[in-house]
Amino acid sequence: MGKIACRACCGQTGHLVLDLGEQPACDFFPPCDDPGPDPEYPLQMWLCSSCGLAQLAADATVPEEPRGAEPAALVAQAADAVQRVAAAGLLSAGARVAEYGSPHGGSWLGLLADRGLAPVYDGGAADVVLDCFGLMHAADQSAALAERLARVAPGGVLLLQYHSLETIVRCGQWNSLRHGHYAYYSTSALTAMLTAQGFSPHTAWHFELYGGTVLLAARRDADWRARPDAAVHALLASDARAGVLDPALVLGLQVSARAHVKGLHDWLAAERLAGRTILGYGAASRAVALLRRAEADRSLLPAVADASAAKQGLRMPGTNIPVVHPAQLAARRPDSVLLFLADLLPEVRTAFPEVEAAGGRWVDAETLGRCPVDA
Ligand SMILES: [Zn+2]
Repeated sequence: MGKIACRACCGQTGHLVLDLGEQPACDFFPPCDDPGPDPEYPLQMWLCSSCGLAQLAADATVPEEPRGAEPAALVAQAADAVQRVAAAGLLSAGARVAEYGSPHGGSWLGLLADRGLAPVYDGGAADVVLDCFGLMHAADQSAALAERLARVAPGGVLLLQYHSLETIVRCGQWNSLRHGHYAYYSTSALTAMLTAQGFSPHTAWHFELYGGTVLLAARRDADWRARPDAAVHALLASDARAGVLDPALVLGLQVSARAHVKGLHDWLAAERLAGRTILGYGAASRAVALLRRAEADRSLLPAVADASAAKQGLRMPGTNIPVVHPAQLAARRPDSVLLFLADLLPEVRTAFPEVEAAGGRWVDAETLGRCPVDA
């Protein structure tokens, strides 16, 4: 690998904090009759010593991701967020809003239009520039942030939503690392990135989504309101407690990965030995590295059900495990359904009551091997 330069500050000093080896592109689902092997690329997280941004070390070519169904948890969080931002007085009727969305889908524009905000589609200035899980998809973080900030009208605000590195480190969510997601923001690193471009965070909101998601509001330094409030200071303090800028502590993700992968493999093997039927649910990107590293194949996990028609009939990258229609949850009467997206639990329990009616149970794939003793 060549010399790494930070995607935000161009700094060349930093540390590899998580190395998952060679991994298939987590969004490339091959057809079941394609036996592979699938192309694999290095998957590593690098922590910049200068600005503190955790980022993808290498730049693999990543194919387009099939757009999944938007989980109800995301829809509910968007409504909650818009309500809280509006309560803070940041969403005035008549204000212009520009949205940078995630390629995975989901838009707040409908909710904002309901409050009288007018969308700007032509690349022009807006009073509210919203980025909801979009910025992390940019390989050049500095340029992508500059583009968004340039569109903030005088007196306007940038709203940035991200799954926080503090959550990832504190909860050992090592499998959040994936190709195509170039940056993993702590509030601390994002503050440094904003400061370098003449902006400052001024308030923030915290959500339970993905274990801990932050929506940060930033303003130009020239704006008298551009001063971090107590909510921002609390997030910075949480960052410090989790050690998001300390490579030795972020490196704990490597330990989490080992324990988690072993926990999953051992559980699947024990269930097979006991003659129990297991199915997976949620062909999510975070399941890919997990299944691959756990050396799971269809003898251990016969199928993963997913509501996205675009993924059904394909197989999980790097394994021979097929993705099937959720109707299989009723047809196969599994003893356990391994859920790869914990946020979906209330939704799937309601949508597929047949699982529990037949005596099956939902098992959170994120917690296997994750008890503190293992770490
Ligand atoms: Zn940097």
